[in-house]
Amino acid sequence: MKKLALHWQILIGMVLGILFGFLMVQFDWGRGFVEDWINPFGTIFVNLLKLIAVPLILASLIKGISDLKDIAKFRKMGLRTILIYIATTVIAITLGLGLVNLLNPGSGISQETIDNLSATYEGNSDIAGKLSTAAMQKDSGPLQALVDMVPDNAVAAMSNNSLMLQVIFFAIFLGISMLLIGEKAAEPLKNFFDSLNDVVLKMVDLIMLTAPFAVFALLANVVVSADDPDILLALLFYAGTVVLGLILMIVVYCLIFWLYVKKSPLWFLDKIAPAQLLAFSTSSSAATLPVTMERVEEHMGVEKEVASFVLPVGATINMDGTSLYQAVAAVFVCQALGIELALTAQLTIVLTALLASIGSAAVPGAGMVMLVIVLESINFPSELLPVALALIFAVDRPLDMLRTTVNVTGDATVASIVAKSLGKFGEPDVQEWDDHLDEVSS
Ligand code: ASP
Repeated sequence: MKKLALHWQILIGMVLGILFGFLMVQFDWGRGFVEDWINPFGTIFVNLLKLIAVPLILASLIKGISDLKDIAKFRKMGLRTILIYIATTVIAITLGLGLVNLLNPGSGISQETIDNLSATYEGNSDIAGKLSTAAMQKDSGPLQALVDMVPDNAVAAMSNNSLMLQVIFFAIFLGISMLLIGEKAAEPLKNFFDSLNDVVLKMVDLIMLTAPFAVFALLANVVVSADDPDILLALLFYAGTVVLGLILMIVVYCLIFWLYVKKSPLWFLDKIAPAQLLAFSTSSSAATLPVTMERVEEHMGVEKEVASFVLPVGATINMDGTSLYQAVAAVFVCQALGIELALTAQLTIVLTALLASIGSAAVPGAGMVMLVIVLESINFPSELLPVALALIFAVDRPLDMLRTTVNVTGDATVASIVAKSLGKFGEPDVQEWDDHLDEVSS
């Protein structure tokens, strides 16, 4: 019997999870049951993915850089990656700003809706937490982000999933030093990381066997924890604007693929789909990273030295979906609260949303924390910040799921562009099931 492709299995798991969640809510069978007995399986799955993220980044980045054989190549790849990441993020923000100004979703929000939402979320601990995290970020000096990239203890950096940039820094530092001591002297270490890389990729395969069940659990939990449908309805136009922008971003990636990488967009979507579906289910680019790497390297054919550098860096600094969302949300709350935005303020949004998406952690809900910083940069009255977050909070989770999907797709696209430009877009290692079947039967 022909085995169903992984992304279909995951999709079925997702749909069943959503239906199950709805049934639980509809018949009042208890959110508690889902939270206590279903969601833990989703959490275990996400933990497993996070567990292998650090060894995978270390092994593949160190192996990738030491494979490059000379430092000039690394410099070229690094520069290209950062420039293309900035370019795609600016496209995303401009798209978001264009749409929110054109569609003006904030104008339809009545004072009554604003009052209702403010009352509903008054004292909400999640919103308070985001505001205080944003305040802490804002209080640090202008070069703090740079200081934060350099660990003072490699083991401590590896023991904390939110310090991924520090791990990347350490891995690059080690990889470059291995290049400098020469191939022969670095060989034992290189063999070790080569083998670790292969083992961790196998761990990804094993974890993915449980993905269809895990996404069932994750999505059932999202549905039972969702807010009142009436609130969601009031924000439909705003959410629709963000979703339209995100869909257009996917179209941009497909066009890039078609015109520059010279591969069919459908081929690309087919290969990257499992990573997209996981990004959607987990709302975390960091947790999805191992799967993104596996898909891009083994199923798309981007060579390891490119994918292993571009993707971990992208998961932490390139967030096109998040920056688009921040641009739309910032202008939307100003429209709803009747705050005029001059052209200079919109230009400030381009710059701060770019920096904010770089600074956003690749975890659920992080984009909203950095939104506060975007709002502050346009002199948004600080006493209205809790109202601003209350206005968009109810739909944040579904939008987070979608923007994370775009973030991951953006990383995979940029990895492909960089690989193509360096002549490192090869043939996939792993054949898709259909091709494999054809080959076996012929
Ligand atoms: N959840 C997003 C990510 O992990 C970040 C965000 O926009 O909140 O990519």
